[in-house]
Amino acid sequence: MTAATRPPASAPKQKKGHTGEAANRYVFLFDEHEEVIQTGSPQWDDVLALLGGKGAGLAEMTRIKLPVPPGFTVTTRACLAYLEKNCEFPEGLWQEITEALHKLEAKSGKHFGSPDNPLLVSVRSGAKFSMPGMMDTVLNLGMNDAVAEGLVALTGDERFVFDAYRRLVQMFGTVVQGIEDEAFEDYLTDYKHHRNVQYDVELGAADWRKITDQFLHIYRAIVGKDFPHDPLEQLRLAIEAVFRSWNGKRAVDYRNAANIPHDLGTAVNVQSMVFGNLGQDSGSGVAFTRDPATGEKIMFGDYLMNAQGEDVVAGIRTPVKIAGLASQRPDLYKQFANITNILENHYHDMQDVEFTIENGKLWMLQTRNGKRTARAAIRIAVEMVNEGMITKDLAVKRVTPQQVVQLLHPQFDPADKEKAVKSNLMVATGVNASPGAAVGVAAFDADLAEQWGKSGRDVIMVRPETKPDDVHGMLAAKGILTSRGGATSHAAVVARQFGVPCVCGAEALEIDTKLRQLKVGGRVIREGDVISIDGSAGEVFVGQIKRVEPDFDKETYLQTLLTWADEFRRLNVYANADYPKDAIRARAYGAHGIGLCRTEHMFFQEERLPIVQAMILAEPNSKEEQAELDKLLDFQRDDFYGIFKAMDGLPVIIRLIDPPLHEFMPDHEQLALKAAGLRILADRPAELARTEALLKAVGSLREFNPMLGLRGTRLGLIRPAITRMQVRAIFEAACRVQGEGGTVYPEIMVAVTAHANEVKRMREIIVPIAEETIKQTGCPVDYKIGTMIELPRAAITADEMAKYAEFFSFGTNDLTQTTFGISRDDAEGKFLLDYVESGLLPENPFQVIDEDSVGYLINVATQKGRSVRPELEVGICGEHGGEPRSIDFCHRAGLNYVSCSPFRIPIARLAAAQAALKHDKKPVSQ
Ligand code: ADP
Ligand code: MG
Ligand code: MG
Repeated sequence: MTAATRPPASAPKQKKGHTGEAANRYVFLFDEHEEVIQTGSPQWDDVLALLGGKGAGLAEMTRIKLPVPPGFTVTTRACLAYLEKNCEFPEGLWQEITEALHKLEAKSGKHFGSPDNPLLVSVRSGAKFSMPGMMDTVLNLGMNDAVAEGLVALTGDERFVFDAYRRLVQMFGTVVQGIEDEAFEDYLTDYKHHRNVQYDVELGAADWRKITDQFLHIYRAIVGKDFPHDPLEQLRLAIEAVFRSWNGKRAVDYRNAANIPHDLGTAVNVQSMVFGNLGQDSGSGVAFTRDPATGEKIMFGDYLMNAQGEDVVAGIRTPVKIAGLASQRPDLYKQFANITNILENHYHDMQDVEFTIENGKLWMLQTRNGKRTARAAIRIAVEMVNEGMITKDLAVKRVTPQQVVQLLHPQFDPADKEKAVKSNLMVATGVNASPGAAVGVAAFDADLAEQWGKSGRDVIMVRPETKPDDVHGMLAAKGILTSRGGATSHAAVVARQFGVPCVCGAEALEIDTKLRQLKVGGRVIREGDVISIDGSAGEVFVGQIKRVEPDFDKETYLQTLLTWADEFRRLNVYANADYPKDAIRARAYGAHGIGLCRTEHMFFQEERLPIVQAMILAEPNSKEEQAELDKLLDFQRDDFYGIFKAMDGLPVIIRLIDPPLHEFMPDHEQLALKAAGLRILADRPAELARTEALLKAVGSLREFNPMLGLRGTRLGLIRPAITRMQVRAIFEAACRVQGEGGTVYPEIMVAVTAHANEVKRMREIIVPIAEETIKQTGCPVDYKIGTMIELPRAAITADEMAKYAEFFSFGTNDLTQTTFGISRDDAEGKFLLDYVESGLLPENPFQVIDEDSVGYLINVATQKGRSVRPELEVGICGEHGGEPRSIDFCHRAGLNYVSCSPFRIPIARLAAAQAALKHDKKPVSQ
């Protein structure tokens, strides 16, 4: 075959849909590459898809002239064609393989199956994504009785030859024919026992001959056919087995779990063998170019002299730390370090490599981007920028928001956790619903969880599932564990919102809330027993596991990365914070303002609730009402003062009272029960009268659909005294901070508005109080008045709303409820879960913004709003504000900011930068 009829077309050059001979080739030698392919480029993705990760790495190393044993890759396209033809080679494939083999023979000067000068090869699977469950590697193909004798003559090393031969029979038997490995290993163990030796290395040539013989016998007995002595048959069967393993159960299960498409196929790499077990001048090893746990720039790995690659990982002998090579063989180490340096610089990333030394010559057998912990990922990205290896934007793109989440939650000490796993203390697994590690005593209901939590005990709240009534317990708990429900269950959603670690749907747990205990695997865990849960991994342990607490201040690499992220992002990142301590945390995490300060939380505090209740019960606009409001004014002023102080110089968006009033009152049913009880006993008439009065009042506040009832602005207009009190508190606090030399930017936000008139009216209440307070104190304050957009009507009439609102904040939790007409509290964890799991909905819209509807409304409202008020400030403050895909949407929608829980600020900073890097014009690279 001449170059004219078959040009050495490089696979990478091909574009999808390209026709011509090269595009239809099934087989490429490792050196049939010509062009530089940038990793991360679309072309590189094509190469990976065609050659698989392993094949692409081998080809690329060959192309940049690193020492790689020659070989060729049978492409994923061949695999797909084979599977499509019901496990038959497509036309021309076998011919291409034998041609490639001939070229390989020419390169190595050896011949496949020739006893005089035999070529031995390995057959290695390799899909686009590295995948456990795919077929394993078979080494030493090309060996048979005659070749073995020839090799003995050639090498004079009979022991080596028969060790290699028996390995082929064993690997071929297990991997290609599916024989249980015990069939071989049991024999080997018995044999060693019989010979009274412990290690393989103690066996000699005669032993391995005998063992090989026996292995061939075992093979024949189980398969019912002779081991194939024809090397070409070995090769063909091995390649077919790799192809078929793509559809093996283990591989399919893994792809399902890891969300890898099923139509990629796997490539097969056929490579000349090199031997690390030819004596003390040979060896094998694996290494990471940086520490994959910490990210530190040190060579990390193991090697063994006089060993084959598989021995290093198989644990047959204890491998030596790679640093040992530096002292044992400085020449080889230097060469190796030089090569890994080239690889890092080539791939611009940390590499995970395999190498073998054959008679003093170093060979590279694999390279790929190394897997790493979240911590390592961040450190490596930052240090590579500092080393000038990658640009800042690449570093920002490379770290995932999920990795930031992991880093910022408490984690179990890996060693302690491993110990627990080994001691069988891991009793169940479930959905990793909210990250972080938590340790505490089990409490089987929300009230007890709250009680213990308040008394300072660390509690894990354990329930079959949770409901909205359980939230107080969930907030007081260090962790949440349920036996039912998935990632969108109530427990999961609440836990994520508040940054509480949560494992849900741990179905192995039999939770008995009556007996207040749970049973799992024969164990009983009672209320008060200590358990540990890993919300990042979805694991449940009995007993206590040591934890390492995150400390944002100490995460200097993360902080550097986020500072770079800030250079790219266009969205501002604000926090939802109701208390000064949240504001302080938010600021430390990098928030540039508060996007939502919920004032009603301040009403729920213990000493305030009775005042709030008295205020509610008082006649609207009466003296009594005002007296209670005056008391609340002092509290609220202090709250706002603390928050303004914490956010000195930054905007603070404060939402006036939002929830319906009954939420502040005792439960109607419980009151009714209590009244009934008192009536029967008839011994405490005064208390009965009080209870009945309260019952009547609470009854009058009851609504069929409180979510759509008297709340938000409606309430603020019906009971304007509450509004006035809140506005006065805000401005008195603001003026005070201003007077003390601080700078405040209060933005007053009204909630649940549907009509522009509502905003207009509220303005008429707010402005006079604001101006009056400013005048009284003599401290001018710059302020804005705006509205939440959380009802479709408000979004649709946003141009009208914007006449009175200086800013919009999309309350996407309510906007999603009102757009879908789904009550979140009633749906999540119930039918909504089924909807998502059965694919009726692609996603839980309360987690990820539904762009078709809620997103559409946001776009419309933003455009309409800005059409009347170009400088209109627009943002979102729903839970979506901390969710990367929704942040990406907000960026595209041209919003000014996203506001999220303080814990999610770092994630939002990164996600906002990634959105900008993805959608805006490329930044200028260094
Ligand atoms: P895995 O994906 O499981 O690592 P590999 O295909 O990388 O499988 O191979 C398994 C082991 O065999 C590795 O240690 C590798 O270095 C070694 N190996 C594979 N091919 C060869 C070869 N041609 N020469 C020497 N060792 C090889
Ligand atoms: Mg490997
Ligand atoms: Mg709302």
